Amino acid sequence: MMNNCAIVGINWGDEGKGRMVDLLTRDYQVVVRYQGGGNAGHTVVNEKGKFALHLLPSGIFRPGVVNVLGPGVALDPENLWVEMEDLRAKGVPVTPENLLISDRASLLLPWHRDLDALEEARLADKQYGSTKQGIAPFYSDKYQKKTVLAGELRRPEEFREHLRELLEWKNLTLTKVYGAEPYTMEKLERWIGDYCSHMVPFLADTGAFLREAQRQEKSILLEAQLGALRDLDYGIYPYTTSSSTTAAYAPIGAGLPSLRISRVVGVVKAYSTCVGEGPFVCELFGEEAEKLREAGQEYGAKTGRPRRVGPIDLVATRYGVQVQAATELTLTKLDVLSSLDEIPLCVRYRLRGEEIDYFPYPADLEECEPVYETMKGWKCDISGVRDWWDLPREAQAYVNRIENAVGQVIRCISVGPERHSIIRRG
Ligand code: GDP
Repeated sequence: MMNNCAIVGINWGDEGKGRMVDLLTRDYQVVVRYQGGGNAGHTVVNEKGKFALHLLPSGIFRPGVVNVLGPGVALDPENLWVEMEDLRAKGVPVTPENLLISDRASLLLPWHRDLDALEEARLADKQYGSTKQGIAPFYSDKYQKKTVLAGELRRPEEFREHLRELLEWKNLTLTKVYGAEPYTMEKLERWIGDYCSHMVPFLADTGAFLREAQRQEKSILLEAQLGALRDLDYGIYPYTTSSSTTAAYAPIGAGLPSLRISRVVGVVKAYSTCVGEGPFVCELFGEEAEKLREAGQEYGAKTGRPRRVGPIDLVATRYGVQVQAATELTLTKLDVLSSLDEIPLCVRYRLRGEEIDYFPYPADLEECEPVYETMKGWKCDISGVRDWWDLPREAQAYVNRIENAVGQVIRCISVGPERHSIIRRG
């Protein structure tokens, strides 16, 4: 029986998926990123240092693991190359032996980033809160069939011809809609030389590679970016990302549609954080927010911007668990709550005078207010705890409460950023 697993976010992203993938890669031979691009970051802390990964799969640190960027990712050669160079400078090898890029992945083109910034500027105070990495323009163009497949890099002349055609088309939007500067082939030549040309040795028919891996019963780990509430179809649209963050999409985005995922690890943070705009029902403000943000070091891995923070939202988390069809959960950053006398939990929403326990339609979400319950805090340092039975009773009660409310078992609890700061339960 083949062993495969998807690691996905249950909330708004930044749940700590990266550290879980880093930990679990020990048991898997292939790690695949299947959606998203350089717009978010996984933070991985290991013996080589602290790394912010944006596009590279988190298995890159494990010798012997083959990492794959699937056709569902937004392949940004610039971001990817900078990231590869950064890892190499810190002594982590990135070679065609441990990284394969799907020749069916579409390229994020330089103008996608520009268009992202231009559109956010046009929206002014109605911004979506984009990270301006070009993800939304990229996915729209992909679905309009107006971008380039990575495999085209193998045929430089045809690649340039295709780019020239797209450039003509895109310049219409840039100049006539936004009044911006047009792109030139000279500018793109620099982009090709500086970034794209380095991608060629990594290109592969990753579908064929994964089918072979499957035939040989290799274990495959699928790594998501962001969380269920940012999914294009199931999240808080339009404050979502532009791809599918669900485990159900993983086989498609990975390039192995025949894969049946047996294990879905949903990562939940012990409190809530959210980056960018959009409804965030249990948001805290002022000093309380500042304290939690500081304790959890909640600043964007990509942008450095302060994250919005709040208590755990059991309504949103239960919905996230359902959307992801998680078969088990990991609860991260429990140590961050150690200083609190009382821990609030959002157990229901109040919508137009009525208490509800389901996650509503996005527009209704804007009107929801949180209904809180509180639990007693444990008020001691738990970062050294490795055994469930050594956790203070109050911390156990908190974990059990979440488990019962969201309807899925919490198998792992993290109590610090390091690889070993994990408590496993049965
Ligand atoms: P991801 O995109 O889901 O991987 O999330 P992030 O990259 O934002 O990771 C969450 C952040 O929290 C990173 O800086 C981690 O090093 C850190 N982190 C992860 N788990 C824990 C934990 O259990 N305790 C503490 N204190 N920090 C953690």
